[in-house]
Amino acid sequence: MPPVANHLKTSIERTGKDYKEIHDWIDGDPAKKAERHNITKIYEHGKMIEEKYGKEGLQEYIQHIHDDVKAKFNHTQHDMEKTIADTLAYFGVK
Ligand SMILES: [Zn+2]
Repeated sequence: MPPVANHLKTSIERTGKDYKEIHDWIDGDPAKKAERHNITKIYEHGKMIEEKYGKEGLQEYIQHIHDDVKAKFNHTQHDMEKTIADTLAYFGVK
């Protein structure tokens, strides 16, 4: 998943602000990281974030999750394509 620095950069590009506190809250505590990326908690977490950072902060929280899902699936797709290519090459299939 993108490091916090990437999230800060894309938040600045979108809003002019880095929303560091939000990205640090999502990614910063290894013990809570998975729970804070859990999409079934978006309403609960989103409400809390919106109260503190407004609608734009809420959108940056959702965008963080979106960007992580996209990066994770791109990585998974890349790994799978490599595994398929390696397997075909192993068997001499062209
Ligand atoms: Zn994240």
